[in-house]
Amino acid sequence: LTILGIESSCDDTAAAVLRGTGGDVAILSNVVSSQTDLHAAFGGVVPEIAARAHAETVDLVVEEAIAAAGVSLRDLDAIAVTAGPGLIGGVLSGVMAAKGLALGLGKPLIGVNHLAGHALTPRLTDGLAFPYLLLLVSGGHCQFLRVEGPEAFVRLGGTIDDAPGEAFDKVARLLGLPQPGGPSVEKAARDGDAARFKLPRPLMDRPGCDLSFSGLKTAVLRVRDGLVETNGGLTEQDRADICASFQATVASVLAEKSRRALALGEVTAFAVAGGVAANQTLRLALETVTDLPFAAPPLALCTDNAAMIAYAGLLAFEGGRVDGMDLVARPRWPLDTTAAPMIGSGK
Ligand code: ATP
Ligand code: FE
Repeated sequence: LTILGIESSCDDTAAAVLRGTGGDVAILSNVVSSQTDLHAAFGGVVPEIAARAHAETVDLVVEEAIAAAGVSLRDLDAIAVTAGPGLIGGVLSGVMAAKGLALGLGKPLIGVNHLAGHALTPRLTDGLAFPYLLLLVSGGHCQFLRVEGPEAFVRLGGTIDDAPGEAFDKVARLLGLPQPGGPSVEKAARDGDAARFKLPRPLMDRPGCDLSFSGLKTAVLRVRDGLVETNGGLTEQDRADICASFQATVASVLAEKSRRALALGEVTAFAVAGGVAANQTLRLALETVTDLPFAAPPLALCTDNAAMIAYAGLLAFEGGRVDGMDLVARPRWPLDTTAAPMIGSGK
């Protein structure tokens, strides 16, 4: 099978070509066009700007992915596209482009849940067998999932407020570091003392594997304001120490909750995915929580990309699922309701 994947749910326009079958898949190309520069001046992703950029870029990115894979459009067996969740204007751009291609080429169309793409990535990269425990940590999500099959996910717990990626982004903003915040906080933390500031570890005293990150962000705000009040501002060292303390706290909370999620049993491996999984401190902390096989995808496959969408589409297609031209773009789409009949229903 040769499959094209298209992703446009946030601020990256991406296309990828994969070839193979479920157990053995090669990434022939994986092109990502980032909009980071477009949004830099606004301190966050501006939906209208994102939507326009996706619409302008998606055809070019697809062309580039096809060329880089050394295939032609006629070689494709199917077209997979992110149908949600995400910024609706962007998702629509991808879905329209995919429909145009599917219709024009007479190829099957498969709508993919963006989160399923993240969740299945460790299987693509490390060949994990089902069921595995997945910690999905991204810009908009934070949850423990038991991944039982290509379209079977059971949510075991997750954040009750912010996602960790959001917290990284807010901490960067509080400290005047560039967006996206994750990479800048990680970079600043390299020269920092993680023990300098004691930050709260929310929900630690509560059983289960739910998480909370909004209090942590407020605690960082207080530390910053305290330093500004006493010293009139922040030094580079202060910034580094705050970043290191924040990052270590996030890693230790996620590691402890992972232990609890693993204690629920029924899984044969543990994996982390989503943009925040790019964080090295977090990867190191998670590696030690279990004797089960542990997988953390390469950085380029942790953040948004279309290879994961093509892969999720390929598995769904192999399972016999195809969508029609009535496939809709969905701003919200909880992962544990992912099932064939839901697709296109708009609910
Ligand atoms: P979602 O997948 O939930 O819809 P998204 O697509 O915006 O959200 P991803 O691309 O998966 O999210 O991840 C982006 C997030 O990952 C951003 O919040 C970013 O700050 C964070 N991130 C990226 N690299 C790192 C890093 N090295 N350390 C921590 N966080 C990081
Ligand atoms: Fe994502």
